Amino acid sequence: MIEVDADGVVEFTQALVRIPSTNDPARGRCERPAAELVEARMREWGWDPVVYEAAPGRPNVVAVVEGGGGPGPTLMFEGHTDVVTEGDLSSWTVDPFGGEIRDGKLWGRGSADMKSGLAATLYATRALQLAGTFPGRVKVCALADEEGLMLGAHHFVSSGLASDVDGAIVAEPEAGEICAVAKGALRLRVDLTGRMAHGAMPQHGRNPIAAAGTLLTGLRSLQEELQRRHPAHEHLGEVYVTPTVLRAGSEEQVNVIPAVASVFVDVRTVPGADHKEIADRVAALARAEGISVEVSVLVDRPPVDVPRSDPVVAALAAAHRAVTGEEPVYGGVPGTTDGTVLTHWGGVPSVVYGPGGKWIAHQADEFVEVAEIVRCTRVFAEAARRFLNGDY
Ligand SMILES: [Zn+2]
Repeated sequence: MIEVDADGVVEFTQALVRIPSTNDPARGRCERPAAELVEARMREWGWDPVVYEAAPGRPNVVAVVEGGGGPGPTLMFEGHTDVVTEGDLSSWTVDPFGGEIRDGKLWGRGSADMKSGLAATLYATRALQLAGTFPGRVKVCALADEEGLMLGAHHFVSSGLASDVDGAIVAEPEAGEICAVAKGALRLRVDLTGRMAHGAMPQHGRNPIAAAGTLLTGLRSLQEELQRRHPAHEHLGEVYVTPTVLRAGSEEQVNVIPAVASVFVDVRTVPGADHKEIADRVAALARAEGISVEVSVLVDRPPVDVPRSDPVVAALAAAHRAVTGEEPVYGGVPGTTDGTVLTHWGGVPSVVYGPGGKWIAHQADEFVEVAEIVRCTRVFAEAARRFLNGDY
């Protein structure tokens, strides 16, 4: 087994957690200082990281570590440097940016999602490098804005940096489960435009609120139909079509039929569901006489379905077995990750695996088990060795 720097990876996680890298320009916060810490550590190890601006002030840090052992594949390790806000401080019993270790747990915002995972990718790659030469190379990537629009991952792909990558391990907290499937997300905005009129003479208007009502009823039937066509996925559950925002009229104008109504819809899909078809169906449901309909796609992240036989999944499973002595548990990602972008737009098979519980992300009193950070670093090092050597 490859020897890893257990104290080093835990201390580095603490240092990362102590940087409040939320995306909050009003408070002068962003992920840049966390990215700079990652870059500095890479340079201390003699690596040559390149910093790309995914957006102004929002850096991606990418280091390529050559194995020196001849030609071979390229493995990507992916982590993100941003964290969600700490939220209301009164719901925390620890300092969200203290990085305190107590009861075998490291506490703080980002401890699980995903500064421990990011630290593990760096220390695993360093351990592999110190263990000797290996074929191919490892691309260690600390990307920006995963919690927002995934600008970092989109920039990484559109700059061509994914084109030579053969497999990616995304270090999100999944409680030690190997997640090669992820749910898709499609967010739509439907604008219904009719004709404004006086409430006393509705016959002169076209009421978009009535059309919105028809649409809402139709969305329920569409969800039922999609659930019949795509039975519940063993790791991802059901398809959901959920209206989340409804806007029309104003309280001050109860005697006026408004011209416009808007309905926002959050669709969650499983492999096999076609986002374009669903968007077209929603547009058709909104159609009504005298009402013009415009559907805007706000977010389109298709589901991910990488087979267990893919080298990156197989190597990770073999490493998990070798390091923990236990059979791997397979699971699914309920939301979307940078892996969605890498797989769909970058053509890279991705798998999500990392320290920390699945449900602790984004909550108050976020924590990660210290032992889990170290174990995951060992699994990552072993997975990289196996993937690059074709030993899985
Ligand atoms: Zn995350």
